[in-house]
Amino acid sequence: MAKSTARKKTNTVRLKFDTSWSYDPAPESRSAASISKQYDLFINGEWKKPSSKKYFYTINPATEEKISEVAEANQADVNLAVGAARQAYEKTWGKMPAKERAKYIFRIARIIQEKARELAIIESLDGGKPIRESRDFDVPTAANHFFYYAGWADKLEYAFPNRKASSLGVAGQIIPWNFPLLMAAWKIAPALATGNTVVLKPAETTPLTALKLAEIIQESGLPPGVVNIITGAGQTGSSIVNHPEVDKIAFTGSTEVGKIIQRAIAGTNKKATLELGGKAANIIFEDAPLDQAVEGVINGIFFNQGHVCCAGSRLYVQESVMKQVVRKLKDRIASLIVGDPLDKNTDIGAINSKQQLQNIQKYLEIGKKEGAEIYQPSCSLPRKGFWCPPTLFTNVAQSNRVTQEEIFGPVLAILSFRTDDEVIEKANNSPYGLSAGVWTDKGSRIFNMTRRMRAGVVWANTFNKFDPASPFGGYKESGFGREGGLHGLLPYVNLK
Ligand code: NAP
Ligand code: MG
Repeated sequence: MAKSTARKKTNTVRLKFDTSWSYDPAPESRSAASISKQYDLFINGEWKKPSSKKYFYTINPATEEKISEVAEANQADVNLAVGAARQAYEKTWGKMPAKERAKYIFRIARIIQEKARELAIIESLDGGKPIRESRDFDVPTAANHFFYYAGWADKLEYAFPNRKASSLGVAGQIIPWNFPLLMAAWKIAPALATGNTVVLKPAETTPLTALKLAEIIQESGLPPGVVNIITGAGQTGSSIVNHPEVDKIAFTGSTEVGKIIQRAIAGTNKKATLELGGKAANIIFEDAPLDQAVEGVINGIFFNQGHVCCAGSRLYVQESVMKQVVRKLKDRIASLIVGDPLDKNTDIGAINSKQQLQNIQKYLEIGKKEGAEIYQPSCSLPRKGFWCPPTLFTNVAQSNRVTQEEIFGPVLAILSFRTDDEVIEKANNSPYGLSAGVWTDKGSRIFNMTRRMRAGVVWANTFNKFDPASPFGGYKESGFGREGGLHGLLPYVNLK
């Protein structure tokens, strides 16, 4: 810490009433990451030029600079990738003893660990998330998923006692931009452990860590065609979904696209898991340790700029402590550091894309029109790039759109309640049901709430905690199927 005159030189803005001191900038070095100018498609263990001959840019959302250009896969490329995956399934991977398969998965995990620093830098550059998160959460959790599922590969008889598990074939996997490497790990690791082969498409705005993962897969010596990684837009995803040789679809993304996929595969033999949107209720009772609860709420919604499907974006506070909690929240968000994602002090990085920023801004206007009070700490944001300060909405109603609809940004709607029954009804009054949080001193209340809340994950006195051994997935419009844990094996096998 030092009196800082260097502030103007950085892309970091400290939101603090007291401007007399600041953290010195602590940027991670970009030079530790090697990024090619252009990436082709990773098909059958090789880099192939796209038949479309087209490439598109991926940019750094904190600066709007172009980082690299990646190939756009068309139908012919999808055909090649699915063909390679089918061939690998039939000729090598599907026949390989499970303990041999496990060795490859284990090796991928180890190489991710070796390249952790580089992967974290690229994740933050391409997607805008603070390096602290990509370094301490995304990358290690991705490696852990590979380690965890490597362990299951030769133990499926224990996962499904007295039943015989067999693989499905080719899995088509489509992932979003909020946890690019981690979502790839969630998808690829269980598919490989159960003997399936893969065609994976990352999101348009964050393809780079998936392409780095392709390099890692190549380095691991995984037989060609077992994992194919192809870049492209929604049309590429759609071609994967509709390909007749794909046996299973694993999709994480918006509820809107999830519905399109479900319609597309209706009447086919394709299995599917859909991990979709959310609007998690985070509930603070008057007997909760309020400082810890406030910290948990901050982590729950401002973590990764609120680009989290399970973000605690609806806060319910028991009436008797409402004023106190709102004051604490306002004080706390005034101290959050918004700015350069590569700076190790940054709490809130860049919004992933211009389009997403516009969507968030649309909801800020909707909230105001609905009569909500908006609070944002005073700050000046960097001129270039896509930024949104942490935002609180108070005086909101249960029926307001900012309470009901997923904003997917650093925006928290705060409501009050009096009784357990009332808050359970309000928490469940949502089209979504992915996650929820309860803050209370009473264990009996935690059990009562978790039993009655319609959410796939309910955290008690914590929020946004993940572990490869825990299943994750939703109810209602948040989708179906589970990823993670023993449950995450199930969508990739047939059981006899
Ligand atoms: P999205 O628009 O649904 O995109 C997700 C992925 O699907 C991207 O790779 C996208 O490609 C692709 N895609 C788009 N149209 C498609 C189509 N017709 N057929 C097949 N694939 C298609 O979602 P997003 O904006 O990237 O991500 C934000 C959403 O994801 C939020 O709603 C969030 O809640 C949800 N999410 C859920 C979870 C969960 O575990 N439940 C986790 C993370 C995110 P392009 O990038 O080229 O458009
Ligand atoms: Mg990008």
